[in-house]
Amino acid sequence: MLTIKNLSKNFSKVKALDNVSFELKKGEILGIVGESGSGKSTLAKVITRIVKPDGGSILFKGEDFTKLNSAKLREYRKNVQMVFQNPNSTFSPRMNIGDFLCEGMLNFKLASKKEALKKAKEYLELVKLPTDIMERLPHQLSGGQLQRVCIARAIATKPKFIMLDEAVSSLDVSTQVEILDLLQKLKKEYNLSYIFVTHDLLTIAYICNSVIFFKDGKIEEEISDIKNLKNIKKDYSRKLLNAVIEF
Ligand code: ADP
Ligand code: MG
Repeated sequence: MLTIKNLSKNFSKVKALDNVSFELKKGEILGIVGESGSGKSTLAKVITRIVKPDGGSILFKGEDFTKLNSAKLREYRKNVQMVFQNPNSTFSPRMNIGDFLCEGMLNFKLASKKEALKKAKEYLELVKLPTDIMERLPHQLSGGQLQRVCIARAIATKPKFIMLDEAVSSLDVSTQVEILDLLQKLKKEYNLSYIFVTHDLLTIAYICNSVIFFKDGKIEEEISDIKNLKNIKKDYSRKLLNAVIEF
């Protein structure tokens, strides 16, 4: 589905991404775990083309989208959605939930305004939210509700894969579990693939099929089957795992 080759990105002297290569298979949930500052968000933003890489390639359906023209890039953006950590920074404070949900569908001309509003309600039901929140403003919802809205909005453009960057990290544990279960369900229903980026190995162990340990902008270790998580070899990965066991 997605092949990342020799991706690099520098911020002045910091090598945020240093020659990163990996593959995301169709239907896979790939976890990227690493300490704060290891380059996870940079990776997420480069893959979703919010940030341009300095070098390397990102192949999606066989095409290198680091070199795509604007029409193809639009198509890529429709197919590759992102959900961020802090729902509050994703929303405009004065845009109501209904308009927020419609935005992607209208941008990509997937529906008329009237159809989009109707679909927005269906997507709210899908993520188990009451449809009367369409008129509400972001500050009138809880963090968990806002994150469900973000997921509904991502799904609404019918993407092939969703990048989730610390998407549940700001929520309390029981809400985290509910959202992870919802993501599992949506993945099956809509044939999605996810890249799930977090500093928290526990959420990765809960939802992912495979995991990449990220350190200083590089891949430190890869586990292709989450069942083999305890066989990790590097001290760095083990430290992250031990943090979970103690928890
Ligand atoms: P993580 O998400 O794993 O915490 P980031 O990708 O946010 O890590 O950051 C990786 C490194 O790149 C850090 O050293 C960070 O300070 C640096 N960095 C990230 N974004 C920028 C930016 N826009 N300008 C300068 N440095 C940045
Ligand atoms: Mg980050």
